[in-house]
Amino acid sequence: MSNKSKGHVVVIGAGVIGLSSALALLEANYTTTILAKDLPAPFESIDPRGQINFTSPWGGAHNRWVPPFPTVPSTPLTAAQQSEHALRAREHAFSLSTFHRMKHFQSQNQAQQAGITFLKGIEYLETPGPEYLSLTAERASQELGLPGTFRVLESHEFPDDKITWGCEYDTWCVNPMQYCLFLLGQIIARGGKVFKREVRSTAEVFQLFSDGVKEFGETLPKADAVVNATGVGMGDDELVFPTRGQTCLVQEPCEATVTRQNADGSWTFCVPRGYGAGTIIGGTKEPDNWDPKPDPQARERLLRAFEGTYPKMLAEGKTRLTPVRDIVGRRPTRKGGLRLEGEMVDGAGFVMHAYGLGGRGYELSWGVAEGVVEGIKGYLEKERGSRL
Ligand SMILES: Cc1cc2nc3c(=O)[nH]c(=O)nc-3n(C[C@H](O)[C@H](O)[C@H](O)COP(=O)(O)OP(=O)(O)OC[C@H]3O[C@@H](n4cnc5c(N)ncnc54)[C@H](O)[C@@H]3O)c2cc1C
Repeated sequence: MSNKSKGHVVVIGAGVIGLSSALALLEANYTTTILAKDLPAPFESIDPRGQINFTSPWGGAHNRWVPPFPTVPSTPLTAAQQSEHALRAREHAFSLSTFHRMKHFQSQNQAQQAGITFLKGIEYLETPGPEYLSLTAERASQELGLPGTFRVLESHEFPDDKITWGCEYDTWCVNPMQYCLFLLGQIIARGGKVFKREVRSTAEVFQLFSDGVKEFGETLPKADAVVNATGVGMGDDELVFPTRGQTCLVQEPCEATVTRQNADGSWTFCVPRGYGAGTIIGGTKEPDNWDPKPDPQARERLLRAFEGTYPKMLAEGKTRLTPVRDIVGRRPTRKGGLRLEGEMVDGAGFVMHAYGLGGRGYELSWGVAEGVVEGIKGYLEKERGSRL
């Protein structure tokens, strides 16, 4: 551990959350080690069944601006509504942090290497809630701080008469494994260590990293803190459940990321992979469905729905998109929202939990990573202060 290191943090997990957290910790001068059962790799080399619980390869992944709530609620808020608003406001702030981080990568000429594309986001909603109906260009920029241009669409721009509200804005998409491999490269270049290993508990990690112990061919410093970025937690959180998502990669490129909310609660969307790598057409959202196999009928429904919503994506003279492969993933969803908090685990040490990101892991990743650094910093400063 170098002299300027503020301590040694071990991150369990190498999905988008573990990787972003590890990079943020290294940038804040913590010696950082990743331990993970699954590591990022080229998309084609990841096993769709065997590694289905490693969610990051199977994501879209785009950023949708989700307005946290209407400016003025029509009735006074109950305590439950207030806490819901607080959670949504936190997620909105996290998505802004991520947007700025993506722009930072662009300013360093790293966007292409990282598989990040900046493009228009277009939304068509059949049954918009009050948080959408109260959204104007002015509110989007002043109150919600959305960067770039936000515009409410005019009704003649809707694809059909079921749509009652729509908008467009500036946003980003990533090709997930390209982005995760880029983060991994940044971590290694900054001296981060990465080991492929499954662990059963956070206590095991503290035991593994005891001062001066030789493991993985290295003499390891003791772990001052551990980050639990395992997607679903260490198997002891009853609030976590999977939300199955089936999507289809098609050959055609698209110049925008388009999302349609249907009145029956289903969604139709596309997420371009950018740089000639096709487009993801989605997608299902099926809570507690563990089926790992793609359903051909669902694929047909998704493609038809998207072709009807955004025919502009079809090449001249074509009526159908060209499927390349089906994708099934499990969003690590958590009742009550993501878990980002510190815990003193008996017989182990300080653990910063960062999991349960559901369908928003990429969008919220940098806000979560900053929260992880803040939590670790707060704990270590307090602990060292109490030893003086
Ligand atoms: C179809 C679909 C579409 C999606 N679209 C989007 C989108 O458009 N935008 C967006 O933001 N998000 C999207 N998501 C969600 C996003 O992919 C997830 O939120 C995100 O990948 C979760 O990342 P994570 O790092 O928390 O978990 P994971 O990617 O699951 O990573 C968990 C890590 O922990 C490791 N691990 C777990 N347990 C252990 C253990 N016991 N010991 C050692 N290591 C362990 C795993 O090996 C892995 O390295 C989508 C998801 C799906 C399925």
